[in-house]
Amino acid sequence: MAAYEFETHEYDVVVVGAGGAGLRATLGMAEQGLRTACISKVFPTRSHTVAAQGGIAASLGNMGPDSWQWHLYDTVKGSDWLGDTDAMEYLAREAPKAVYELEHYGVPFSRTEEGKIYQRPFGGHTTEFGEGPPVQRTCAAADRTGHAILHTLYGQSLKEKAEFFIEYFAIDLIMSDDGVCQGVVAWKLDDGTMHVFSAKTVVLATGGYGRAYFSATSAHTCTGDGGGMVARAGLPLQDMEFVQFHPTGIYGSGCLITEGARGEGGYLTNSEGERFMERYAPTYKDLASRDVVSRCMTIEIREGRGVGPNKDHIHLHLNHLPPETLAERLPGISESARIFAGVDLTKEPIPVLPTVHYNMGGIPTNYWGEALNPTKKNPDAIVPGLMAVGEAGCASVHGANRLGSNSLIDLVVFGRAAAIRAGETVNPNEANPTPNRASIEKCLDRFDGLRHASGSVATAELRLEMQKTMQADAAVFRTDKTLAEGVDKMTAVAGKMDDIKVTDRSLVWNSDLMETLELTNLMPNALATIVSAEARKESRGAHAHEDHPNRDDKVWRKHSISHVDGNKVKLSYRPVHLEPLTRHEDGGIDPKKIAPKARVY
Ligand SMILES: Cc1cc2nc3c(=O)[nH]c(=O)nc-3n(C[C@H](O)[C@H](O)[C@H](O)COP(=O)(O)OP(=O)(O)OC[C@H]3O[C@@H](n4cnc5c(N)ncnc54)[C@H](O)[C@@H]3O)c2cc1C
Repeated sequence: MAAYEFETHEYDVVVVGAGGAGLRATLGMAEQGLRTACISKVFPTRSHTVAAQGGIAASLGNMGPDSWQWHLYDTVKGSDWLGDTDAMEYLAREAPKAVYELEHYGVPFSRTEEGKIYQRPFGGHTTEFGEGPPVQRTCAAADRTGHAILHTLYGQSLKEKAEFFIEYFAIDLIMSDDGVCQGVVAWKLDDGTMHVFSAKTVVLATGGYGRAYFSATSAHTCTGDGGGMVARAGLPLQDMEFVQFHPTGIYGSGCLITEGARGEGGYLTNSEGERFMERYAPTYKDLASRDVVSRCMTIEIREGRGVGPNKDHIHLHLNHLPPETLAERLPGISESARIFAGVDLTKEPIPVLPTVHYNMGGIPTNYWGEALNPTKKNPDAIVPGLMAVGEAGCASVHGANRLGSNSLIDLVVFGRAAAIRAGETVNPNEANPTPNRASIEKCLDRFDGLRHASGSVATAELRLEMQKTMQADAAVFRTDKTLAEGVDKMTAVAGKMDDIKVTDRSLVWNSDLMETLELTNLMPNALATIVSAEARKESRGAHAHEDHPNRDDKVWRKHSISHVDGNKVKLSYRPVHLEPLTRHEDGGIDPKKIAPKARVY
């Protein structure tokens, strides 16, 4: 047994994560007088949410007619009929309330002439159940919406006396022998001390796992830690095969180059200097939809027409546009290209690659954010004491594909819902159960094992191998062959975790050890992704399968459930919730409107 002293902290609720989802949950809990701790491995306002620019969807109707029923329809269609209808209704219906709350908390939204919250159009958001023109539904604080939301929620949470544990790394959940979550164990990064957080409810708000791939728009901290903790507790992950790619991340850094660049006339070329999109999409060319462009780029690379010494990326040209246009319309992009690619885009093309942008899958939850452990008898069975919100969770409102600006609203609607639910289920006058000693020791042993790991593969090496495998075989281009090869390769890669080498044995600011812990979290997320993708023999949303190009609702309108144990994944399925919350007679959506049909835009 590893000998580590630890300090014990007792709270009603412990939230792990201080992005938009974690902060909204923290604030809601603290407002109700629950003793709330929020643990974050980075300073709260450095969470990835800070990078969200575009905005947050809610049917306020400030720019023209809109309704939550239309927003619901768009979300159902965007999800390619895989989302849970009750959760999607909850999202669309509660969105305006959640946005007005943000406004009252102080988020500096951009304004219309009349002083209302400004809303912009976004892909896939329409009127009249997809029959009418596009709607302006996305509320924005200039191009810094995530930044504005994070700062506001952090300030409000401090005001409500939530307690923050910053630069604490949550290692594992503490589970009782009968499956109740009782808290988390965390490592304080700046002094190396260990901390046990006992709680009546733990909320995982740890964000996505974009860093399982070589090229991701997300922060380096997006390592799926919540998913890793859940997998180690024997609990499942859901719909992991659905990963959203953006065509133009900067090669190497993954930094996002907005679709606006191609909107302004940018185009892509291969190693022969050919504008290859003309061949694949004669009408829309470089402005075909995100998944189509991403797939064509990948085909060019796979067929040996990629650019660069390793022929592994594509060029995005803006250098034919007048420098004044670039300076005026794309100032941010000019800066990103300079900093992250060392490119002067008035003179040279930008090296780009389809880049992981969002994880639709995650920890399965109901629309209150309660984590699920589905059984055959009860596919909606909850895990007592555990919740998950934000990109770490899967409620599921995005199904097989997320609409732009629907993530920020997911963070605040379900962060808020988790707080409302905890207000009902958590009794502040009750004593916390004594956290399970065996579970704490198991966690400390794992930590100690990694700290002293003396195998032959360095963490950075193995991480790169995982990232390259996922990028090649679980990417936008999926076939039976690539997926089967990918499963074999990833199984071998994950097997090498037993041979990992950590060189720094200290406890203070040990980034080697922290990155190793993160790799133990990325690995189960990556494995679940490729194994559930290999099994799904259809195309739906972001899962575009060359050998099974059609959606198959008869067989595959169901959620994938993955249990990961070491380098093995056990798959099962659970039904999609088809019933809305509100009956049509009572003002809810007409079920006929959301019946499955072809997804064309
Ligand atoms: C570049 C970019 C632009 C985007 N633009 C938009 C947009 O315009 N509109 C939109 O709707 N969506 C957008 N998205 C998606 C959206 O921003 C994310 O899905 C969302 O911000 C995720 O928020 P979160 O609260 O779930 O997690 P994050 O913001 O990623 O926060 C995770 C938190 O968990 C903490 N954490 C993680 N692991 C641990 C651990 N082991 N111990 C302690 N703490 C831990 C971190 O410290 C952090 O505080 C964008 C995404 C990117 C990458």
